[in-house]
Amino acid sequence: MPAYRKPKLRCHATGKRPFPDELAASCMADSISRKHKTTLYIYKCPWCGNWHLTKRPPKSSATLKESYGR
Ligand SMILES: [Zn+2]
Repeated sequence: MPAYRKPKLRCHATGKRPFPDELAASCMADSISRKHKTTLYIYKCPWCGNWHLTKRPPKSSATLKESYGR
């Protein structure tokens, strides 16, 4: 059996799962968005420096991915 485990990292500030880069977060957001038929946004966490997913549209459109169309 596999002995390794994926470390369950959590952001100390938000308690969310951190993604190391925008691409990884974007991929996951897209996957979850389709799965749950919702829209997820990504943003860079000012505390841990990683990317997180959020259901709330960010105030700044800087990190907003194009998700307007259906
Ligand atoms: Zn964070």
